[in-house]
Amino acid sequence: MNIQEYNSYGGPSRIRTNDQGVAVPRLSHLAIGPLLIHYNKKIIDFQYIILKKIKNVLGRKKMKIKVGVSNRHIHLCKKDADILFGKDYEFHKRNDLTQKGEYACEETVIVSTDKYEFPHVRVMGPLRDYTQVEVSRDDASLLEINPPMRDSGDLENSEAVWISGPNGKIYKENCCILATRHIHGNKNNLPNHNNRDIVSVIFNGKEIDNVHIKMKDSYELEMHIDKSDANEFGIENGDYIDLE
Ligand SMILES: [Zn+2]
Repeated sequence: MNIQEYNSYGGPSRIRTNDQGVAVPRLSHLAIGPLLIHYNKKIIDFQYIILKKIKNVLGRKKMKIKVGVSNRHIHLCKKDADILFGKDYEFHKRNDLTQKGEYACEETVIVSTDKYEFPHVRVMGPLRDYTQVEVSRDDASLLEINPPMRDSGDLENSEAVWISGPNGKIYKENCCILATRHIHGNKNNLPNHNNRDIVSVIFNGKEIDNVHIKMKDSYELEMHIDKSDANEFGIENGDYIDLE
């Protein structure tokens, strides 16, 4: 192929023609097409990712979550229940709690230290593998103890208290905590969060931080705080907070 190149001024041209005068594209012109398609695709992919992210953020609506305020209470293990209430004592359900299978009992115990005593601390059912006393910051200062803020069951190096029931009394070490404020939920009612996430929520324009997410298939959507938190943030049982 006899290739001649001219431009409109008669000089070397960008347009190449063969001996029939038909324009022949340069190699670089041939390569640029697929290259442009390649980069266009990249740009489109990039735009798609950005749009998806924006949609996710916009789509993540503020959720209203009901708050349950818990008063001081106790969970018992079988061994301690036997000592406090008598062997194989059967507790009486007072009322169901929001979370399936959990209930408050008619029975109460006395929780005390040398400094203070709470005479009617509600027993929660069913029995657990461990005995755990959950108090508020205000309760702790009356008892003059310094319980750590923990998730349920995390009792290592927690506080000791006396626990008295109708059948006996025990001095229980590593049982008393301040419960971490938390939200119960599952994949469906809390789709944008994972177990053990730590989030902030809003109540009356005020931020409440360090809220732990607890996920389980059986969990109803509900936030739990203690009385000291409720007083501090002006929240009453049954109020709703916003989670983003
Ligand atoms: Zn809870």
